[in-house]
Amino acid sequence: MSLVVQKFGGTSVADAERIRNVARRIVDTYNDGNAVVAVVSAMGKRTDELLALAADVSDKSHPRELDMLLTAGERVTMALVAMAIEDLGVRATSLTGSQAGILTTDRHGAAEIVEIRADRVRAALDQDMVTIIAGFQGVNPDSKDVTTLGRGGSDATAVALAAALDADLCEIYTDVDGVFSADPRAVPAAHKIDEVTFEEMLELASAGAGVLMPRSVEFGRRFNVPIHVRSSFHAGEGTWVKEETMEEAVVRGIAHDSSEAKITVHGVPDTPGVAATLFEPLASAGVNVDMIVQNVSHDGTTDISFTVPDTLLEAGTKIARDVAEGVGAGGVAVDTEIAKVSIVGIGMKTESGVAARMFRILADHGINIEMISTSPIRISCVVRGDQVGEAVQALHTGLGLDGGVDA
Ligand code: ADP
Ligand code: ASP
Ligand code: MG
Repeated sequence: MSLVVQKFGGTSVADAERIRNVARRIVDTYNDGNAVVAVVSAMGKRTDELLALAADVSDKSHPRELDMLLTAGERVTMALVAMAIEDLGVRATSLTGSQAGILTTDRHGAAEIVEIRADRVRAALDQDMVTIIAGFQGVNPDSKDVTTLGRGGSDATAVALAAALDADLCEIYTDVDGVFSADPRAVPAAHKIDEVTFEEMLELASAGAGVLMPRSVEFGRRFNVPIHVRSSFHAGEGTWVKEETMEEAVVRGIAHDSSEAKITVHGVPDTPGVAATLFEPLASAGVNVDMIVQNVSHDGTTDISFTVPDTLLEAGTKIARDVAEGVGAGGVAVDTEIAKVSIVGIGMKTESGVAARMFRILADHGINIEMISTSPIRISCVVRGDQVGEAVQALHTGLGLDGGVDA
């Protein structure tokens, strides 16, 4: 008998009929002789609606109460799915993240799973029950307050639970057929990838491929849990995320991200320690900086530009202004109209010239590159926000991904 953790995303549980479909899917897996733990997201756009409701009620920050509110979304789904499973004649029980023993750090809105005490889940499995667990949430053991894991966090719940329970596999059911060579909403010619390594998927997810939350891929890699991303609407094979793949693609996929902004500090004195003076307070405030560019100095001063998530722009700008004043810099400029496009492939480790090909394709489309960063298997470029759609399309075609095979 296998133990399977199945996760169903928001679109897959958006209404009563889809919830009954999900229940049928879980029961089919159970009837095939598997033990099943299911993790569910809030129904449809419920999390966005709850966030909007909170913003209507108050324009201040209430991290603890916001998490109390948001965790309710997943709680609704878990109870409904458990009811639908019981109606199909299989015993089921629902558990909140806290009841499932998901212990997290205390950082509301972006808590990290530190431990899973899965006793209650194991007890339910021992009694031959299907357990339905509310995704995206946990509890901090010190404060005893509920926390949320950040957007898309149900993926992390599922893979972390699969690791803790030593499950054979984690299935992520979603509204697309698997992981595509680019976001199918942006590139109609994008094709489903059959296999992708943890390393590539981590880069793609971190670069904006929203189909999996980056932290879920980290859990998969750390504990070697095979992840199968597949459609919740049909039984076809999806994408396997695993340690190694049969073929090494030079470019496996393209990701884009329009949710970052650029902060530039002008006229910074070009002396030792200035970068540390700027980035230390950003780090302490939890403002995670993505790309950094420091220009060549003129007259003993230079410009430093960096990107941060839109959500942290206000905090980041305030710190940059304080530091700029402190070190006697010229001023701070903010640019929200940027986007990042990234190409990822394990074969880049050995193949040279990929960056040049990327830059040429962008140049041929009149797209200016404002910042560049690389890892051994990724190249990212910051471009104007209104050109990112064209950039992804052009790269997909230019790098030979339109034909349906990995480059
Ligand atoms: P769920 O609610 O099931 O978690 P998400 O909306 O979080 O679903 O993730 C699925 C969406 O991710 C797809 O509808 C698709 O638009 C988007 N996406 C972005 N990049 C990719 C990619 N490379 N492959 C597949 N889907 C992608
Ligand atoms: N409901 C949460 C979100 O919309 C978590 C998830 O769906 O994974 O981000
Ligand atoms: Mg998701």
